This record gives sequence, C-alpha cells and structure tokens, in this order.
Amino acid sequence: MSLSFYNTLSKKVEQFVPIDPTGKNVGLYTCGPTVYNYAHIGNFRAYLFGDTVKRALQYCGYEVNHIMNLTDVDDKTIRDSQLAGKTLEEFTAFFTEEFKKDSAHLNIVPPSRYTRAVEHIPQMIELIEALIEKGYAYKSNDGSVYFNVRKDTNYGQLSKVTLANLEKRPFGRDESSAAGRIAKDEYEKENASDFALWKAWDENDGEVFWEPKGLLGGRTSIGKGRPGWHIECSAMSMEYLGAHFDVHTGGVDLIFPHHENEIAQSECATGEQFVNYWLHNEWVMVDGKKMAKSAGNFVTLRTIIKKGISPLAFRLLMLMSHYRSPVNFTWEALEGAENALKRLHSHFLEYGGGGSVNEKYTELFTKNIENDLNTPLAIATVWDLIKDPTIPSVDKKVTLLNFDAVLGLGLAELKKETIPVEILALADMREQARKEKDFDRSDELRAEIEQAGYTVKDTEDGPVVAKK
Ligand SMILES: [Zn+2]
Repeated sequence: MSLSFYNTLSKKVEQFVPIDPTGKNVGLYTCGPTVYNYAHIGNFRAYLFGDTVKRALQYCGYEVNHIMNLTDVDDKTIRDSQLAGKTLEEFTAFFTEEFKKDSAHLNIVPPSRYTRAVEHIPQMIELIEALIEKGYAYKSNDGSVYFNVRKDTNYGQLSKVTLANLEKRPFGRDESSAAGRIAKDEYEKENASDFALWKAWDENDGEVFWEPKGLLGGRTSIGKGRPGWHIECSAMSMEYLGAHFDVHTGGVDLIFPHHENEIAQSECATGEQFVNYWLHNEWVMVDGKKMAKSAGNFVTLRTIIKKGISPLAFRLLMLMSHYRSPVNFTWEALEGAENALKRLHSHFLEYGGGGSVNEKYTELFTKNIENDLNTPLAIATVWDLIKDPTIPSVDKKVTLLNFDAVLGLGLAELKKETIPVEILALADMREQARKEKDFDRSDELRAEIEQAGYTVKDTEDGPVVAKK
C-alpha cells in the first residue's frame, strides 16, 4: 500500500512515510474548535476531514494516536463568557458538550484524546520559558511575552508570508515599542508580525488568569496572565505526540497565522522539525463567500437536523468533493446527497449476509483513497459496485461494509426495518398500476401507503418502501 497526501509544506503530493521505525504508529493532530458557540458546518468540514485522514490511515493498517484540542481560553471565549454572565468554565463546558454531540451525529470517531487548553498551562509556560531563554521571545513593558519573528530565519516556510515589512524598519528596533506586534489571537495581515505567546492580565480578562510562578514552583519570571492561542496547540500536540510527529490537519484558513506560528514556536524551542505532513481542507462557501460566523452566512448542524435531514447527508456531501476543493453549500445539494444516502442505505439493507470481499472493487476503492484521499472517486466506486450485475449481492454487502470504515456513512449501524406485508402488498399493487400506466390508481395507492406511515420511492431497481 502506498498512501499519499498533498503536503502544504512542500506544495506536492508526497508518499506517506511514518516517523515510527516499525512503520506502524502514526501521530495525528487536528486543530479543534474554539468552544464559544456552536460549530457551523464550515467548521465541521475540517473535523470531518481530520476524521477521514484518521480513518484512511487506519484502513491502510496504521495505529493512529489522534489528538484534538479544545480551545477553551482565548480572546473569544473570554469575551463571550463575560457577555453571557457565566464563568469561563461553565460557558465552555456547555459548548464542548454540544460539539461532541454534533460530532457523534456526523459519525466522527472521537480522537484518542481531547485536550483542553486550560489543563495544559504549565506546558505552555515551559515552552515560552524555553523561547525566552533561547532569545526567540521577549517581554514587553506590560509583562506580555512576544515571539520575535525576525529571529526565526525559517519563518514563512508553510504560508510563504514574508518578513519584508519587518526588515524595512530601522535596525535596532526597540523591542519594548509596539511596532509590528500583534496581541490578538487572529489577524488578517499577510505579513509576519511578532505575536503574543503570553498576554499579561488586564481588566478585560476579569477572573481569567494564571500565575506562572506558582505553577512552576517559582522558577519563572513570567507574570500573571493567560496564553495566546497559537502556543496552546504547540504545547498540547508536543505533550502527547512528541516534539516531532507525523500529520497535522486543519482548514486552509489556519495556515496563516496559526499554523505558521505553531511551527515557529515549536521548532525554535526544540531545534527539531515539528511536523512532517501538513494537510489542509478547503472552505465551505455560500454564494461565493466563505461560510463564517463573522460573515453571518453560516448553517449549524442543528438547523440541518431541524429540517429533518440526516447529518450523514452532510458527511456524504463533503465526501463528494475533494478536500482541496471549495464546496458551495446549497440546500438542494444537501437534499441531493440525502437522496443518495437513502439509496445507498436501502441497497445495503436489501443485500443478504455471508459473502466475501470483492477484490477488484476493493483495489479500485483503496487506490482512490491512497491517492491523496480522492473521496469523490471512492464514492463513484461505491455506485459502480452497487450497479455491477456480475457481483453477488452478498459480496457487495461485505465489500461496502469495508469501504464504510473510511467513509463513515453508518452502514454498520443500519437495522433492517420490517415492513408489514400488507404495506408491501400495496406497493406491489401500485407498481402493477404504474406498469399499466394507470396513474390515478397508483396515486391512490401511494396515498394509502403514506397514510399508514410509510413512504414509497421509485428507484432504478424498483420501488423502495420505508417507514416515514
Ligand atoms: Zn491549532
């Protein structure tokens, strides 16, 4: 097997080779949600992508240690918890639970470990200490600590942003001045800037602060405050996966500044390469614009569920596009995906058990997955298998079940519904009427079936009856 991924670091599709000399274990880190609100489906594309990467690695025989962080302290969580009149802990606990529920609806396998930022403050302080000691970070007048991007000659290796704007400044820039420094967790400018590793407490932070001295037994000069967002992911990924690990995933919007800054902090602190493969998924778009909380054009999973659409239809819709292509979200597209999902489920339920895996289709499917996770082609293979009249249906069933280890479309959990014989008889009579082109009669029979609480759908393989 040879799994390959497009690596944002090299801008090439590369064969995946794990760091582990036994070739078995893989470390995977996915940037998780900031738990200050419900995640929207644009966010969920990234978590579905991380899940697909994990499932593909497992399908290819690797043991995956998957870490996902929960950002439960940053500018946004502090701001919105105060607006809600709740403690940071109460506020983020609620949205953490909602995130886990939504993930379960989407059949996202929980990571090996969720890591909460607030539980890893000492590790973050240790990392910041190491950066100060090595001359990559400095304290500003207010007691915040900043990363000095000019000192990192590799800065920009992932995003290709340049240091040009910093170099234009007079030599010997006063490090205590505010020039070129950014205290916010998120910034838009496509130019490198010194960013906050530790933010000194101010009154806007209210009750949210840590006293590093107490946490590290007095051996730090960092004062009361809280971590910046970027340092959180460096500290937590290295805590569980080591200073150098295999795969890091996230949305393309995280390439700069978040991932660039993660690399800078981690590599300058340890002197080692941080991550071998950086994988990024594209955006979900609405009318040509990125779906975003700030743009107000977002849809949450709750809305999808309220409309009576299966969350797995959204999963299938995402799989129908390559992860490196933007997806334009429309309700029509989602409904189309739901119809396809229902067809897949009803085919699967019709097949009997006891078959064996079909090698030809498995080879095709595996090739598509191995080729930079080409899920649209893998889904096409699913339909080709279903339509192939030369393959016994019992073989189709086990083969599809194998594919679903990667796709996660809920086949293993499907239970065959028992449709009462009188309903099946009505469906047969309706089919007969249709064949005889007696459409008035067939409409009457459909109404009767629906009144009894069932639906009948005409597919290319004949009518499919299901409970409403
Ligand atoms: Zn992150």
